[in-house]
Amino acid sequence: KGDLYHHHGIPGTFEFASLTSAMNEMAIQLRDRIETIENQRADQQAIFSSMTEGVLAVNEDERVISMNRAFAELFDIQEKHARGHRVQTLFRQPQLHKLISEVFETHERVEREIILYHGKEKILQVHGAPLLDSENKRRGVVIVLSDITRLRRLEKSRREFVANVSHEIKTPLTSIKGYIETLIDDNFDDLETAKKFLNISLNHINNLDAIIDDLLNLSNLERLEEGDSLQVEDVSILSILKDSIELLQHTADKHNDEINLECDPSLSLPVNRNLVRQAVVNLIENAIKYSPDGTKIWLSTKETVADNRGEREEVVQILVRDNGPGISEIHQPYLFERFYRADKSRSRKLGGTGLGLAITKHIVQAHNGKVAVQSEKGKGATFILQFPRKRQKNESPDG
Ligand code: ADP
Repeated sequence: KGDLYHHHGIPGTFEFASLTSAMNEMAIQLRDRIETIENQRADQQAIFSSMTEGVLAVNEDERVISMNRAFAELFDIQEKHARGHRVQTLFRQPQLHKLISEVFETHERVEREIILYHGKEKILQVHGAPLLDSENKRRGVVIVLSDITRLRRLEKSRREFVANVSHEIKTPLTSIKGYIETLIDDNFDDLETAKKFLNISLNHINNLDAIIDDLLNLSNLERLEEGDSLQVEDVSILSILKDSIELLQHTADKHNDEINLECDPSLSLPVNRNLVRQAVVNLIENAIKYSPDGTKIWLSTKETVADNRGEREEVVQILVRDNGPGISEIHQPYLFERFYRADKSRSRKLGGTGLGLAITKHIVQAHNGKVAVQSEKGKGATFILQFPRKRQKNESPDG
């Protein structure tokens, strides 16, 4: 009856006794083998369903032999009910149907990229290959899908970044080239104009220098975010804010600006002092740069609780507020992107690189924090740097 756990009693007759014990022995062996096969199947099934790649196997009639969870989720299919159905009735994806037919026709492996529009766009890399049995006879076709949307997006943003950097560098270089060509012209002998041209060129060179410095800073910060550990120590926030003000007091005085500070002297955080100072300095510098003379700047802190992916987390915010021109809402989502400028002409005139806020964002992110801006055109701006109170896993103590 298939009950392999049943053990027969050994009868008295010699012939029956040996037959019975042989049958008992056989049942045990059979049980072990079936158990091994079942375990192997469960392991394979577990691997198959936990794969992030979508896998589909179809037979010669293009009916589903097997499909894993990732594939079913990509096409919104009930995995359990897919077996035996023709692929054409299960999902509408002409490019994928074509690829399957191609493998059937050519008996060759095929690789292609397809785009899925299920709510949002997904870029998939598809590999199709003949499904062969142990005697190398074709039983159907197997399809493996990998979601490469993130990879392609990253490539796109890298390409855009290189284009932006080239543009930012090319503009001052073209201008410097123009001035030098004029200066080396044999007929040019106006010393005063020559000096003026050299001064303008020097400004451009200083700006190029600042761009290169900022780019190097950014690439170092990216390494921190990619896993290099950040050196942190418990630092008094008041001391960081005081240091930042000290560095810019002279510039603020030149513009008759007033910097106010309000911070609990006992407040300390596990951060990298130099990096956080750089982030705060960038914000104060902007407040001075983009506001008219005589502006007021407020530095303050706020201890609060924030939502971190559904969990409540104790955080400390550093706020830098000014009563300058503010930033209109349309610019706000992009302010922290590289080379984004809300006020292009003022930024360029004042030697801005368009990278200050991107650097600030990466510094805060390296501490597992967040940045934000609150502003209304004409009503000043508040930039917020938010840090977790507790030390994070990828941070290591200083020294
Ligand atoms: P930049 O080198 O141009 O200053 P940032 O990344 O530091 O680059 O700033 C991006 C843009 O954000 C600036 O070009 C400016 O238009 C705007 N901005 C930044 N801070 C302020 C502020 N406090 N008030 C008004 N606009 C600001």
